Amino acid sequence: MSVPPALSPAPVTLPPSPLRLRLDGGALVANWRWLKARSGSAACGAAVKADAYGLGAVEATHRLAAAGCRDFFVTTWAEAEEILAAAGGASVSVLHGLRDEDMQIASASPARPVLNTPGQVRRWREAGAGRACDVMADTGINRLGLAPADIATGLLDGLVIETLMSHLACADEDVAMNARQRQALVDLSARIPHRRLSLANSAGICLGADYAFDLTRPGLALYGGVARPEARDAIRQVARVEAQIVQRRCVEAGGTIGYNATFTAARPTELAILNIGYADGYLRGFSNTGRALAGDAALPVAGRVSMDLTAIVVDAAPGLAEGDWVELDYDLPRAAAASGLSQYELLTTLGRRHDRGWS
Ligand SMILES: *Cc1c(COP(=O)(O)O)cnc(C)c1O
Repeated sequence: MSVPPALSPAPVTLPPSPLRLRLDGGALVANWRWLKARSGSAACGAAVKADAYGLGAVEATHRLAAAGCRDFFVTTWAEAEEILAAAGGASVSVLHGLRDEDMQIASASPARPVLNTPGQVRRWREAGAGRACDVMADTGINRLGLAPADIATGLLDGLVIETLMSHLACADEDVAMNARQRQALVDLSARIPHRRLSLANSAGICLGADYAFDLTRPGLALYGGVARPEARDAIRQVARVEAQIVQRRCVEAGGTIGYNATFTAARPTELAILNIGYADGYLRGFSNTGRALAGDAALPVAGRVSMDLTAIVVDAAPGLAEGDWVELDYDLPRAAAASGLSQYELLTTLGRRHDRGWS
């Protein structure tokens, strides 16, 4: 049997997506500058892992490097490769360290591994040829990082350590564990030669100058997340979600909306059906709780969010028509409260169907 020849379709120009993600580069940089000021004399880096929390790692890195950021954090070597050019020679650290599978790329890459396990330390002694690395010490989160007992055996002797770091478990809370972790890092730092010491993420920066040491590592707050009340008035929204209206309709009193009929109209109600759903990262937690914005009008989500569609009540903006655009309220603290999702989840679930535009 012969294989049919591949079709070579006539070139087509795709229409724009009915979904847009508007990304505010000025807000991103303003957020970084505020975090840098709060970091005092410490350098302020940027966590751009997970594609800059879903917003676009290359675009974010490029803008932050231009603003003066000199330290970037990613999860994997593939993520490091993606941003190296945009980082323009700034330092790039790979938070998950070094697997057997990473040896080849790690020996050739200008990025540094963050060593988390005795196995990773062994691998870097082989692959690193005496080059500098970073080290993550566990001070109580019990996630990634070397235990103090591992370190006490002389595991790190002879390594060139650029940044010795640890990670706070509860920086968004006022609990005694923060000071305990801080003290544990200070104790370790006296025994481990290093060039810089680093502890604070976004929330940790808000805990005050005692937590900044030499280098801070914000992620969430760069992208508009408010990790603690101290940041509420300073941090600006970076990602705005817009969707086009597919259909307008009026539902009569007693009519229900969407799957499982979770919303019943008390009176004749003007609806707009939006081109956005959970496949676009507008998750089911917004069912009957989210809202859209059009001018001054707030337009509540009615019924369940489905895969590609969401209904909103447009009684407050009756001029809206099929084909018009509305903004979904994606102010992160507010959207988190409405949906029950964390601000981190809200960012990283934003989907792939949006047309993305940075200003
Ligand atoms: C993700 C991450 C950060 C950034 O944390 P945010 O809470 O987003 O500011 C900092 N350090 C490490 C080790 C991380 O994994």
